[in-house]
Amino acid sequence: MDLSLTPELIEFRDEVRTWFDEHVVGEFARHRGAGASWDDEAFDVRLAWDRELSAGGWLCLGWPKEYGGREASVDQQLVFQLEYARANPPYRATTQGQDLFGPTLLTFGTPEQKARFLPAIVRVEEQWGQGFSEPGAGSDLAGLRTKARLEGGGWVIDGQKIWTSLATHADWLYVLCRTDPDAPKHRGLSMLLIRADAPGVEVRPIRNILGGADFCEVFFTAARTPADHVVGPVDNGWHVAMGALGTERGTVLLGEHLRIRSEVEAMIAAARSRGMSPVLRRELTKAWTEARVMEWNGLRLMTSLKDRGLDPTVQASISKVFASAAHVRMGELASRIAGAPGDLVGENYAVDRFQHMFLGSRAERIFGGTEQIQLNVLAERTLGLPREPR
Ligand SMILES: Cc1cc2nc3c(=O)[nH]c(=O)nc-3n(C[C@H](O)[C@H](O)[C@H](O)COP(=O)(O)OP(=O)(O)OC[C@H]3O[C@@H](n4cnc5c(N)ncnc54)[C@H](O)[C@@H]3O)c2cc1C
Repeated sequence: MDLSLTPELIEFRDEVRTWFDEHVVGEFARHRGAGASWDDEAFDVRLAWDRELSAGGWLCLGWPKEYGGREASVDQQLVFQLEYARANPPYRATTQGQDLFGPTLLTFGTPEQKARFLPAIVRVEEQWGQGFSEPGAGSDLAGLRTKARLEGGGWVIDGQKIWTSLATHADWLYVLCRTDPDAPKHRGLSMLLIRADAPGVEVRPIRNILGGADFCEVFFTAARTPADHVVGPVDNGWHVAMGALGTERGTVLLGEHLRIRSEVEAMIAAARSRGMSPVLRRELTKAWTEARVMEWNGLRLMTSLKDRGLDPTVQASISKVFASAAHVRMGELASRIAGAPGDLVGENYAVDRFQHMFLGSRAERIFGGTEQIQLNVLAERTLGLPREPR
């Protein structure tokens, strides 16, 4: 990737940098680096931060202007991501809509659906949750059993989803349902949109290892939604869902990977103040190097999005496999640097940044497609190894 910036990009970078300098203050500065795409740590501060970004015109940069975006180029989006990581503000609260559902709708939605839903995401007025996984269908997503049928001019949904991130905050859910029970497994699925507070939809939070209650079970009992709330063709939702998951493994993770460098810098600062053994020095050097590799993988991914001959899905899998395993190792190192106090949580289960790294990084090997599934993808699609027996 060519990293030299044109004069226009330098001007854009300076504009972004100045904006962050002026706006990452007060509560936002006190919550630097807080949160992740799937958790609700400091959620109210992060929501206020999203509104600040929205007011400044810094959300959904690549979207068409008619839906509230800036039509920013891939290079501008990359510059923005790098500056975001440099400023290290709180993690955006409403990424489910901005980074996952929104891009999916841009690709597969009707003009009416885009006009109805996208501007509300940019204005941080409506939040979204992804209802794909089920108790019996995670890696084997096509095995899902939640059913929907057309009845009385609308869809009626029955079934159960699980691990729906931030569903307690969601106004809307996009739900993958079986709409043709007789079709082969990967066909006969449709992606439906339903209000999270519709009658027949029940959201039950699950408490996680970080003490948050951000991902949920969602039960549907004869829950109704209008007939036109289907994204993409009826019975062809597999294709739509794969588009959403590709985005999740790609650009969503880029933001998370770029900011890991500041976590490593915090670890180095903590180790310096507490004294450093030669072993710790070596491990910190390794962690710092791995954080740089994550950045380079992210830059390669952006290059592939600019259509320079690399397959973005393959690059996204490489980034995810490398970063999730490395981040777990970094979390373990952070825990060792913290020493015995790192084993204690504060009032109301308040975890500090290092504990958050140690505990939260474990989820990264699972969500958006597990590490083993990504390795299967790479083995089959990139290395041409024999397909796994099914
Ligand atoms: C923090 C977090 C947030 C999430 N948010 C959402 C969300 O918002 N919406 C949503 O729909 N889902 C969400 N998920 C669910 C996530 O997508 C699933 O957990 C994931 O796809 C794995 O599915 P599973 O949990 O059913 O595990 P399983 O599929 O049962 O896998 C169990 C183990 O078996 C391994 N395995 C399974 N199949 C194979 C295979 N073919 N080859 C090799 N190994 C295999 C897996 O790698 C894993 O180690 C979230 C998960 C986490 C952890």
